[in-house]
Amino acid sequence: MTMIKFLDLQKVTAKYADEIHEAVLRTVDSGWYLQGRENERFETDYAKYIGTEYCIGCANGLDALIWIFRAYIEMGVMKQGDEVIVPANTYIATILAITENGLKPVFVEPSIETYQIDDSKIEEAVTPKTKAVCIVHLYGQCAYTDRIGEICKKYNLKLIEDNAQAHGCIYQGKKTGSIGDAAGHSFYPGKNLGALGDAGAVTTNDEKLAKTVRALANYGSYKKYIFQYTGRNSRLDEIQAAILNVKLKHLDDDIALRKQVAKYYIDSITNPNIILPKIFDWNQHVFHIFPIRCRERDGLQNYLTDSEIQTIIHYPTPPHKQECYKQWNEMSLPVTEQIHEEELSLPMSPVMTREEIDTVITALNKWGE
Ligand SMILES: *Cc1c(COP(=O)(O)O)cnc(C)c1O
Repeated sequence: MTMIKFLDLQKVTAKYADEIHEAVLRTVDSGWYLQGRENERFETDYAKYIGTEYCIGCANGLDALIWIFRAYIEMGVMKQGDEVIVPANTYIATILAITENGLKPVFVEPSIETYQIDDSKIEEAVTPKTKAVCIVHLYGQCAYTDRIGEICKKYNLKLIEDNAQAHGCIYQGKKTGSIGDAAGHSFYPGKNLGALGDAGAVTTNDEKLAKTVRALANYGSYKKYIFQYTGRNSRLDEIQAAILNVKLKHLDDDIALRKQVAKYYIDSITNPNIILPKIFDWNQHVFHIFPIRCRERDGLQNYLTDSEIQTIIHYPTPPHKQECYKQWNEMSLPVTEQIHEEELSLPMSPVMTREEIDTVITALNKWGE
């Protein structure tokens, strides 16, 4: 028996190998390795795909989020010590982008139904220092609700989207990444739209923000050798842009395949000890992750490992319990902590075979018999 991988990246890449090889060679032979045609094309096409006026490529998803907050600080919209409301159960990068800028994350619990920020708990977290709500479309499911939009309007808060896990997800006709004031995207290899190395982008309709982000990610410079900000080198690699141009064309097909895997799982996993993800008609899911929950999560994971099925926990420890955030270690966030104790991510990718999916389903239904 061969191991069913959580994500077989080699197979994901092999599917488009000819096109990828051609794109890489074309870039190598072009003699132009940064901020060239591939970057330009990717920024144009990705902005069009997401439905925003602007897209700025950058080095990775963490930087994309860092630049959004930093740009708002440079623009005078936010200042150090201001508060940003954020779901407590996100990946650490969302929180790092906030603290890196001297801003304060205010953790809000997620809903146990959707694992997305609980919109009924946002308003009570607003203070005079709150400047933004940063939603995270976690696991590939839309986190936005009309109520969140209303709260942002009422208190004049920026709405920032962490769209690292949800490229292609749609909310009422709009792609996530085009709903708020700005969005950060990651193209880490394992993401739904993955490069073959690090890459990221910011999307926005705000021209000033777009220009500021572009300058910050390029040494703080609008004009060669003129430095407006103490920026960094956080440019999108030209070869990665060329690869992303290939993969963007196939993204919707790959998402359709992910949805098919999810449908098989949802229709066929009947073990009452396993809680399946819930999808409502208002919050689509592009299944970057297929998260299940189980009280005996660790036992289930060991059983699946013994059955040659690889799973991953997203995530074992929430940000507020991490050593780097000692000041928040004593905080009590029971819903978040419960999710971190019970969550398990099943194999999910556009290259899983029906046989592999069936093996996972059979193993899960047999568990605890
Ligand atoms: C992957 C991810 C990021 C960071 O992306 P990198 O490209 O790895 O820096 C940010 N937020 C979330 C929710 C992510 O899953």
